[in-house]
Amino acid sequence: SMPLQRLESKSVCPYCGTGCGVIIEHDGQQITGVRGDPDHPANFGQLCSKGSTLHLSCHGDDRAREPLRRDRSDGHWTALSWSEALAQMASTWAEIIHRQGPQAVALYVSGQLPTEDYYVANKLAKGFIGSNHIDTNSRLCMASAVSGYKSSLGMDSVPCAYEDLEETHCLFIVGANVAYAHPILFRRIEAAKLRRPELKIIVADPRRTPTASLADIYLPLQPGTDVALFHGMLHILIWEDLIDRKFIAEHTEGWDALKAQVQHYTPRWVAETCHIAINDLRAAAQAFGAAPSVLSLWCQGLNQSSHGTDKNVSLINLHLATGQIGRPGAGPFSLTGQPNAMGGRETGGMPALLPGHREVANPEHRTEMAALWGISSIHPQPGYTAVPLFQAVERGEIASIWISCTNPVLSMPEQQQVQRALQRARLVILQDSYLDTETADYSDLLLPAASWGEREALVTNSERRISHLHPAVPAPGTARPDWMIYRDFAYVLGAALDQIQHPLPDQLDDSWYARARRMFDFSDTVSIFREYQQCTRGRDLDISGLDFGILDSQGPQQWPFPAGAQSGQSRLYSDGIFPTPSGRARFRAPEFMGVAEEIDAQYPLRLTTGRLRDQWHSMSRTGKVAALFASDEEAFLEIHPEDAQRLKLKNADLAWVSSRRGRNVLRVRVQKDLQPGLVFAPMHFGRRFAPAALCNQLTLPAIDPVSGEPEFKHSAVRIEAA
Ligand code: SF4
Repeated sequence: SMPLQRLESKSVCPYCGTGCGVIIEHDGQQITGVRGDPDHPANFGQLCSKGSTLHLSCHGDDRAREPLRRDRSDGHWTALSWSEALAQMASTWAEIIHRQGPQAVALYVSGQLPTEDYYVANKLAKGFIGSNHIDTNSRLCMASAVSGYKSSLGMDSVPCAYEDLEETHCLFIVGANVAYAHPILFRRIEAAKLRRPELKIIVADPRRTPTASLADIYLPLQPGTDVALFHGMLHILIWEDLIDRKFIAEHTEGWDALKAQVQHYTPRWVAETCHIAINDLRAAAQAFGAAPSVLSLWCQGLNQSSHGTDKNVSLINLHLATGQIGRPGAGPFSLTGQPNAMGGRETGGMPALLPGHREVANPEHRTEMAALWGISSIHPQPGYTAVPLFQAVERGEIASIWISCTNPVLSMPEQQQVQRALQRARLVILQDSYLDTETADYSDLLLPAASWGEREALVTNSERRISHLHPAVPAPGTARPDWMIYRDFAYVLGAALDQIQHPLPDQLDDSWYARARRMFDFSDTVSIFREYQQCTRGRDLDISGLDFGILDSQGPQQWPFPAGAQSGQSRLYSDGIFPTPSGRARFRAPEFMGVAEEIDAQYPLRLTTGRLRDQWHSMSRTGKVAALFASDEEAFLEIHPEDAQRLKLKNADLAWVSSRRGRNVLRVRVQKDLQPGLVFAPMHFGRRFAPAALCNQLTLPAIDPVSGEPEFKHSAVRIEAA
């Protein structure tokens, strides 16, 4: 028999935004093991429970191997060839584009797609078809951080680096359960605290999560009251003269308006509004103001809110008022939820963006991108964000949607609405590596995508670091990389548009088919990267000096990395100059607003949702690893002992949880680390698990007016014994 080959390929974990380096162990056909990459600067060889079991999630009967078509009448799936599948899609889309216009088709992609897929999908939608309706599940994740950074600092750029975790004197962790959602970063924090016990850690979260175990000061704030907390802290910082007047005078604008505003946020009022002790509020503000360096970490607690942008800018205010930015150990550091949410933004994979951090609404940006893509113009109006996008599908305004690498029937708020939308759509295309997802139940075509370890890729992690992922094994069946599917579809769509004699918008090509060949002349990942790289030249995220050789020889690099640079840049804004028209960072002064759906007599409890340590999103991968069920084997509802007693519920009872949208059965866990009045359910479990817990049947589709991000962190619910 053939000797078993023992091979290794360098990659990056495809789960959270920490972006840990992984060495894939394989025999050229099967992935046999994984271990942490000791040379990767995110994790230096460590992996968490999810990353260290990656090899157990790759090969299985549930992998998509060939294109499939579902019969809507009986739900039966039939295999078809790639050319049949692409031809069916293309003839439907060509007809929709011809009759209803290009804005009647949409793409919905994912923060788990690599950079080159994002780039090609975005070029297909905005450059070739002419539809700006391409959004991503990053909308449910980082959109409010993006709007916050842009509003306050001028650009969507995380200014910090992981090494700041080791250098900082004070960590302010708010709305982030780092211990579960970014476990390797939490280990770095634990190690820093062990080495330097004087490192002050402040944790603000409605739940006393495992992250709070490290806290010197824990603030159990009421859900949705973050803006009041930050304004209240700033009030105290001003009162106690702990602000940096020189930094404010030289590097910011808008201070007087903010100062006047936070005058009204007295410690007493803020403590009452946030349900925290006034002394703890004071202690937190004093720790923030006194520390030589302060690093803030946040995630969905701030972002998943109907006023997430306000929360982000109010936290950034604290850093600007104290000059805590652009220095070692200092800065507002949003933790990215997904492995490549940042890469998606870089390539413009959102309805208001174009590649290289450009904006659809900016005429100069459209002209620049049209020139780079060799087309005459780009549609001037930003497309729909996720929640309005699925509403437009339900109205019939968008006739067909192509979903890649995400499971919106489980993950969108008010998932019943998404189900209605997909039932109404003329053609639902799903591109995934796995067969059995909630969204597959509502799809017409399933296109098999190559997955992690089966293709080359680039991703950008939370600290702006770009890693090169090498393939290890072939994809199962005829599955192929997502970018290749978009490319091939462009060719077939071009031919279909020519066939029905749909007019080209300009004279730049002989035919739609010729245009597709020219615009999607991509043979591999490198050819896509080279083109994308040109789009970054001269922009804040300039990576024109980077290439795959540098990534392989010098390791993963942070952007910017312009031509001629020797290495990436770990910290931004060290010179105190911000990418705004005036060069100054902007103080913003939003007023504190309540949650979108307040509790009342009918729905008297507050539901918040979140992640578990050992599961990832809708569990397509982690749901098949037995070891990952050891900590939590099923969905549950955490409830405070006082509420449980009042409702006559005890541990392991089943309870009905109802909201204005729907109801669900969940198993009760009595949990004293919550506040009374608050209940918590994990986001992961779908209809494949018992009890069939679909917590997003309960959540509401209220969104932030700027970022479009939904308010997953607060819905009013009622609980009854089942
Ligand atoms: Fe993967 Fe995140 Fe765990 Fe690192 S911390 S191994 S990136 S899930």
